[in-house]
Amino acid sequence: MDIHEYQAKEILSGFGVAVPDGALAYSPEQAAYRARELGGDRWVVKAQVHAGGRGKAGGVKICDSDHEIHEATEGMFGQKIVTHQTGPEGKGIYRVYVEAAVPIAREIYLGFVLDRTSQRVMIVASAEGGMEIEEISAEKPDSIVRATVEPAVGLREFQCRQIAFKLGVDAGQVQQMVRTLQGCYRAFTELDATMVEVNPLVITSDARVIALDAKMTFDDNALFRHPQVAELRDKSQEDPREARAADRGLNYVGLDGNIGCIVNGAGLAMATMDTIKLAGGEPANFMDIGGGATPERVAKAFRLVLSDKNVQAVLVNIFAGINRCDWVAEGVVQALKEVEVDIPVIVRLAGTNVEQGQKILAQSGMPIIRASTLNEAAERAVGAWKNDLSQGVRMRAVS
Ligand code: GDP
Ligand code: MN
Repeated sequence: MDIHEYQAKEILSGFGVAVPDGALAYSPEQAAYRARELGGDRWVVKAQVHAGGRGKAGGVKICDSDHEIHEATEGMFGQKIVTHQTGPEGKGIYRVYVEAAVPIAREIYLGFVLDRTSQRVMIVASAEGGMEIEEISAEKPDSIVRATVEPAVGLREFQCRQIAFKLGVDAGQVQQMVRTLQGCYRAFTELDATMVEVNPLVITSDARVIALDAKMTFDDNALFRHPQVAELRDKSQEDPREARAADRGLNYVGLDGNIGCIVNGAGLAMATMDTIKLAGGEPANFMDIGGGATPERVAKAFRLVLSDKNVQAVLVNIFAGINRCDWVAEGVVQALKEVEVDIPVIVRLAGTNVEQGQKILAQSGMPIIRASTLNEAAERAVGAWKNDLSQGVRMRAVS
């Protein structure tokens, strides 16, 4: 799960990382008011969206008066911002963050990521701050400093000093760097983050070390341990399909293809997607409905898959170990009664109570295409979809 910059700054600040003074606003009037409250004579207004690269896309503006703040934010609210991280559809701006502007002397890149190769938290830093890490690694790979943290002992001060010196930070700011690095590391580990990025971390002209931007991503599977983080979720920034799935407790990832998948178990879902591709099709989603899927859950899964207008065939692939095929079959039949489906539905069942499951499907009178193996199911799904295309049957209604 991603959070907004202002939220990440509040969290990091709680771990001792210095951030600029700032306040959130939901309208241009409020933004101007917030700036007056903050005081000073120069502010930065920043569109709050779950994406970087806002500066270049007009989402970060430096303002010297009330009037400028009004004008800058007027052009942001309700607009979509498109950066290389948002995808072509962009992300809506509903909140802006107003900050007291900071006089920058140097910009540093700082990131904390999970490095799967070393199985450690890795610190990635570069003296070339302000640029995105992808650009830095393409254009100035030698500027990147890396360090991994031994989990048993945590991030040691000497490591932080080493990083600071490699970045060419003056001796006078090294202690602030240590505090910043350790604060980020503690926030990362204690809150089960998978990424913390401060780009840029700046050294101001009056020698302070400040996180000017902040991004945090959290492990969804650990959110139950951190309700204060979980409540920062902003659904306006997420793929609506995935947000709906999360609400229903379904594990769903939207993709670009047109064969919808309803599968129990993440591994089987991956295998199903592979088999669809092997058969010449493209999966429309990853979906794991979980082990003990009830008929209601299967019906929910159907509605979700069908809400994607690109879906032109649905493949249900269930291996019932904990689950029961008759339950799943009932769910499929129930879903087809409730939701008007006029695209092919292919069902492959295997495991517990498979005979009863097949019987329920056969006796339902529903136009369900049954398959006995995964290969057959994938081929039928792809075949049905292609056949559909050639007949020009692409319209369907979903109730
Ligand atoms: P991003 O483009 O989404 O990564 O947004 P950032 O928060 O990183 O801002 C982009 C750039 O705007 C930074 O790299 C800075 O150069 C500039 N910027 C942001 N805040 C300030 C500020 O307080 N003072 C100055 N002088 N520049 C700023
Ligand atoms: Mn940035």
